[in-house]
Amino acid sequence: MAARTLRIGLIPGDGIGREVIPAGRRLLESLPASLGLKFSFVDLDAGFATFEKTGTALPDTTVEVLKKECDGALFGAVSSPSTKVAGYSSPIVALRKRLDLYANVRPVKTTAGGSATGSPIDLVIVRENTEDLYVKEEKTFEGPNGKVAEAIKRISERSSSRIATMAGEIALRRQKIRQVSPGTSHISKPTVTITHKSNVLSQTDGLFRETARQALANSKYSSVGVEEQIVDSMVYKLFRQPGYYDVIVAPNLYGDILSDGAAALVGSLGLVPSANVGDGFAIGEPCHGSAPDIEGQGIANPIATLRSVALMLEFLGEEPAAAKIYAAVDANLDEGKLLSPDLGGKATTQEVLEDVLKKL
Ligand code: ATP
Ligand code: MG
Repeated sequence: MAARTLRIGLIPGDGIGREVIPAGRRLLESLPASLGLKFSFVDLDAGFATFEKTGTALPDTTVEVLKKECDGALFGAVSSPSTKVAGYSSPIVALRKRLDLYANVRPVKTTAGGSATGSPIDLVIVRENTEDLYVKEEKTFEGPNGKVAEAIKRISERSSSRIATMAGEIALRRQKIRQVSPGTSHISKPTVTITHKSNVLSQTDGLFRETARQALANSKYSSVGVEEQIVDSMVYKLFRQPGYYDVIVAPNLYGDILSDGAAALVGSLGLVPSANVGDGFAIGEPCHGSAPDIEGQGIANPIATLRSVALMLEFLGEEPAAAKIYAAVDANLDEGKLLSPDLGGKATTQEVLEDVLKKL
């Protein structure tokens, strides 16, 4: 069988992004040949340092190369200046817009070590990324009793349908990965939980709920259980019984809040991956920021990035490669011998990486 070659854009950005993205590249280069995958790489600029050098945080060439040449990409982190700098805006937010990466996907998983609540967790939050209150259409005006501010919450059928479809696809894919790596998850049946507040917001969240239900009623997803949960009780149950969930799909704001809440259940930010996904393109991105407090010391935990690499591969249709990476990372964490300082260990970025590669 001829090997499939994937071209991957590497955007380290700032701070520890420059330490963890090379680890992601090494991981791709080290995948066993039996998977039938080859990779080529292109280094791309974005971030605050790029802004200081060139006047833009996201050069057009970066976007063009991603669009024209690449199958996927890895994004490290960007540092956000503590005071507002004129002309600077976040390159990842711009990238999501320009590549129409309409979903933010954040898996949260524990290994044998357990979680803050002690029970195993293996869930993924699929957050709509283009609309809801984030359309940022706000206004302030004088009312009869003083100032009033308003914001538009926009929900469309199209966006709700495509995000729910993606959640269905992810549920199926996770099932495939469990089949490749049995024993790595306690989840047995694929399930999508639609999160909303349609008891109060009957039109906006009502449309999200109805449309998501319709999309998931497609016979393609007949093996996927569909449930729904009002967002406030979702938060309660997520903290009381996180092991219950498989795939959670939510409009932008609820998804944002649930994602950070869920990440807190598994300890270090250095463990949590994410992906920005559109039709036919995915950018893997660790959830953490540029971590200026540990920059340049070689001790950043690379696991969030290594898991982001796997997540990107999932979206490129390479479940077996993704399954191998997840299992190797889990093995490193379960063994607990080579852990970075954020997890109470002494290992460097390089040592954690080498251990995961050994376990591949
Ligand atoms: P930014 O503005 O870029 O988000 P930040 O100061 O908010 O920077 P974060 O990257 O968000 O820093 O990290 C928050 C905390 O978590 C920091 O103390 C950081 O050292 C720690 N941290 C984040 N990522 C990692 C990692 N991969 N390995 C170890 N520690 C990490
Ligand atoms: Mg931060």
